[in-house]
Amino acid sequence: MKLHEYQAKQVFADAGLPVPDSKLAASVDEVVEAAENVGYPVAIKAQVQVGGRGKAGGIELVDDEEEAREAADRILGMDLKGLHVDRVLVEAAVDFVNELYVGVTMDRNEGKPVAMVSTKGGVDIESVAEETPEAISRVHVDPSFGMHPFQARKAVYDAGVERDVAMDVASVLTTLYQLWDDKDSTDIEVNPVMITSDREVVCADAVMNIDDDALFRHADLQEMEEEGDSSQDDLEAKADEYGFDYVRLSGNTGIIGNGAGLVMTTLDLVDYYGGEPANFLDIGGGAKASRVANALDMVFSDENVDSVVFNIFGGITRGDEVAKGINEALESFEEIPKPVVVRLAGTNAEEGMEILNTDLVTVEKTLEDAVQRAVEYADTEADK
Ligand code: GDP
Ligand code: MN
Repeated sequence: MKLHEYQAKQVFADAGLPVPDSKLAASVDEVVEAAENVGYPVAIKAQVQVGGRGKAGGIELVDDEEEAREAADRILGMDLKGLHVDRVLVEAAVDFVNELYVGVTMDRNEGKPVAMVSTKGGVDIESVAEETPEAISRVHVDPSFGMHPFQARKAVYDAGVERDVAMDVASVLTTLYQLWDDKDSTDIEVNPVMITSDREVVCADAVMNIDDDALFRHADLQEMEEEGDSSQDDLEAKADEYGFDYVRLSGNTGIIGNGAGLVMTTLDLVDYYGGEPANFLDIGGGAKASRVANALDMVFSDENVDSVVFNIFGGITRGDEVAKGINEALESFEEIPKPVVVRLAGTNAEEGMEILNTDLVTVEKTLEDAVQRAVEYADTEADK
């Protein structure tokens, strides 16, 4: 689960972290009211879960009501990297002289959490990590002891944070680690931590992701998830509903399979044959008609999809059952929107392939052939 900025800032404020005064607003009038409450100048910030809102035009600083109305009118309802903006955070503007990066995540190679600090904050931290990795200081934490104060100080000094604010930044880092641990967070990140002209330290942005499998332990966060759902990707919401494991990708070859390993293999092969996967979709055990129909519904609802490859392994659910399911699901479409290629393997695969209605699908015997065919179809469709 990803928290919205306004939600993460609520969690931060409750933990005693310094965050600017702010209010959530969903209309131009609410923005003006919030701005009067907070006091001008304010930052108006789109509440959608993507990075780089600033650069994409989702954040504006305004000095008075006229500017606030204009900015609110522009940002509310805008499309920000594919997400609809229906709420903004109206926040007291910070008069800053420096921007830092501070974050905690799991370092899987070390098998330990790692705390990171950089004085190159405010910009895309991934590019800092790539171009000047030495500009990010790191300390690993032993989770059974927690973060010692000296570790936080070391991370902050190593990063080259100015001495007069170093202790305050170290205290932000310690609290972030504590939250990361207490809330079963996978990543927690403040970019930027702003240093003001008065030498105050302020958490100006907030990213906090929670381990979904631990969400049951946090009633407060669960509530936030329900309330914040509005800008979730529609397809991901649909996948939740159908009980599929689904990840939307950027390509145009749709992929449906059963079993995560099999789906990953299909994805790799699409890439190998020069195609681009549109998604990861694991329909799980069995392939009853209703599940197949739901899977097709998902993949066809993605306007990027130009062809679909089905890769199903018949185990407990036999190949002929799967084939019946696919036929039934496809017969329910008045017109099949994009070409579908099917490859069956496992129990009763031969029987299954004979049953498949070749008016509706292309059947291939091997996985390689099926993937190549689907990539070809995707190329042809894309050129139309
Ligand atoms: P992101 O682009 O989605 O990461 O959103 P951020 O909240 O990090 O904001 C991006 C940038 O907008 C910051 O690095 C600042 O340069 C600027 N910004 C955001 N809030 C304020 C503010 O209150 N005052 C000022 N002066 N600039 C701000
Ligand atoms: Mn940011």
